[in-house]
Amino acid sequence: MPRDDVLIVGAGHNGLTCACYLAAAGLKVRVLERRAVVGGAAVTEEFHPGFRNSTLSYTVSLLHPRVIRDLRLAERGLRIVERPFSNFLPLPDGRALKFGGDLATSQAEVARFSPRDAARLPQYYARLDRLAATLKRWVLEAPPNLGGAFIVQGWRDALAAARLLWQFGRLPQDGQRDLIDVFTKSAGHWLDATFECEPLKAALGWDAIVGNYASPYAAGCAYVLLHHCFGEVNGKPGIWGHAIGGMGRITELMADEARARGVRIDLEAPVARVLIERGRAVGVVLESGETIRARAVAANVNPKLLYQRMVDRSELPAQFADAIDRYRCGSGAFRINVALSELPDFACLPGTHAQPHHASGILFAPSLGYMDRAWRDAEDTGLARSPVVEMLIPSVVDDSLAPRGAHVASLFCQQFKPDADWDALRGRAVDAIFDVVQSYCPNFRRSLLGWRAYSPLDLEREFGLVGGDIFHGQLALDQLFSLRPVLGYARYRGPIAGLYHCGSGAHPGGGVTGAPGHNAAREIARDLA
Ligand SMILES: Cc1cc2nc3c(=O)[nH]c(=O)nc-3n(C[C@H](O)[C@H](O)[C@H](O)COP(=O)(O)OP(=O)(O)OC[C@H]3O[C@@H](n4cnc5c(N)ncnc54)[C@H](O)[C@@H]3O)c2cc1C
Repeated sequence: MPRDDVLIVGAGHNGLTCACYLAAAGLKVRVLERRAVVGGAAVTEEFHPGFRNSTLSYTVSLLHPRVIRDLRLAERGLRIVERPFSNFLPLPDGRALKFGGDLATSQAEVARFSPRDAARLPQYYARLDRLAATLKRWVLEAPPNLGGAFIVQGWRDALAAARLLWQFGRLPQDGQRDLIDVFTKSAGHWLDATFECEPLKAALGWDAIVGNYASPYAAGCAYVLLHHCFGEVNGKPGIWGHAIGGMGRITELMADEARARGVRIDLEAPVARVLIERGRAVGVVLESGETIRARAVAANVNPKLLYQRMVDRSELPAQFADAIDRYRCGSGAFRINVALSELPDFACLPGTHAQPHHASGILFAPSLGYMDRAWRDAEDTGLARSPVVEMLIPSVVDDSLAPRGAHVASLFCQQFKPDADWDALRGRAVDAIFDVVQSYCPNFRRSLLGWRAYSPLDLEREFGLVGGDIFHGQLALDQLFSLRPVLGYARYRGPIAGLYHCGSGAHPGGGVTGAPGHNAAREIARDLA
């Protein structure tokens, strides 16, 4: 049998995307996945008899429209349903904020709390849109590869660096200021400078702590907020939606497309190490002991997993190995899927019949101060007394997930210390999360039929997400763009010839985007041509 051109380690959505593009370039591709299903962090699984849900990632916006088009996902049946409005925040005083529908409706809602903030919303969105548009231009581009002393490494890098400077220079001065601010300031300071309404700031600032174990007042976390604003659903920018069939539907369709292009996908095929001969990656060795050779290897796994467990340190330049040691991973995210006999009955908006707020992103975190306190608690004890919880109830818009009349909900919870003793603390975390939901929905605990919880440690053990990091490495200035994963190795290539990065540890980072897979495929195909 002819030798494979490229082996891809991991069938996460980026590994699958990379495989599809490489196959389209005429290369022979084989994907090796450790688990029994494709999808990595984008999977739909049964977690309680008769109840299925997106196991980890649960909502779509960032998946790039070009990836959707090129991988023919819509033609193959992908359907994404928009939320009626982005967020619903039940508040401790019995009020609620419904936020993020059309601008006029959002303004009317916010005006109930602060007419001044309502008037400022259009300008805020205009600033955010300008920032998102600037950064979006780079999502499907390889960032310039800067050398040790910020020296560009080749003509492609010189061109990319020049384009970057040109684009920055074309922004008006307040746009340049905003761009610098998002990379250096906290979301809290950014939002406090514009708004006074606490629930509004919470609704907007929540994105800054998603997958980011930090106070919303931590310097630089404004970028994480912006990272969640790149996307679109059905051509509408900045909004989030639900993939019918859950996130696993996206990756099943990607795998179908890959197979149709001739890609071989091996499940339950864990890779033990990358085979390196004379400084070049020439294949992999599976945990079974089998050796598979190829012209190149692309790693969809976290860079720490790749370079600390699959590559012998002696093969790496010492500086690079040290930089990987320092590469920060750890999201502080705790994830629970719950099976419910009925919909949550909110004290502030009663009723167990489906209402628009049930189909939105329900945020149990009324202020940035609440989020900051949760982080401080977690620093002290591992977890917050009152954690930050977002709940989505996909079964309101998708009847494929739960038996008729029953529901599934995703609880995505933040501010859990990544390196706490999760085997000891897991149960306490579940109780604290359920207590938060119960305090707003008095029927919650009695409606629970079953649940499955994932601590940061579970995310690492079961999904290879080092430190439970949902993005394969923190999204911070020193780990972004030309510095992701490591300065000098930004163009999807590490220090070992023939070994590429095609997962979220490469630019533009985490989220279900398909972008690192798309970009890596372009670089690999160029090298192998
Ligand atoms: C709890 C949670 C919630 C999230 N919510 C959202 C959300 O709502 N929306 C969103 O856009 N993003 C969300 N994210 C982030 C997003 O899901 C991830 O950043 C993204 O899916 C990562 O994709 P990837 O293909 O780069 O890597 P992964 O999906 O991590 O894929 C890596 C693959 O490598 C495999 N692997 C690991 N070790 C080996 C080995 N030794 N041999 C072979 N294979 C191996 C893994 O099993 C996995 O399949 C969430 C993530 C988590 C964890």
